Amino acid sequence: MALKPLRPCNKPYCNELTRDRYCEHHMTELTRSDRERETAGKRGYNRRWRKAREYHLSMFPVCVVCGRSATVVDHIKAHKGNHSLFWEPNNWQSMCASCHQAKTNREDGGYGNILKPPRS
Ligand SMILES: [Zn+2]
Ligand SMILES: [Zn+2]
Repeated sequence: MALKPLRPCNKPYCNELTRDRYCEHHMTELTRSDRERETAGKRGYNRRWRKAREYHLSMFPVCVVCGRSATVVDHIKAHKGNHSLFWEPNNWQSMCASCHQAKTNREDGGYGNILKPPRS
């Protein structure tokens, strides 16, 4: 089988010849900046959620279950990584930490809890 022909790197003004899209040097540079973009995106996401959460808690400061003061914004319907469910304000409810924990345990079906070794 013939090797792919050598051609110039896709990076503008780079004259290195390569069988890939980019020369070795620009290939590593590219994957590195991809990684950095991703973590920056995650940071922005967290900052945005922290603000949204604070705002929601200031509007609805009371746990929807027990009426104690809420510290957690819960997703009524589990978002499972779904962006529109995650950011949908109608899908948010204020909860105290213990009610939220109870809900999380319920949603795990108790199944995972059985499999986990008991805490000593
Ligand atoms: Zn290059
Ligand atoms: Zn509660």
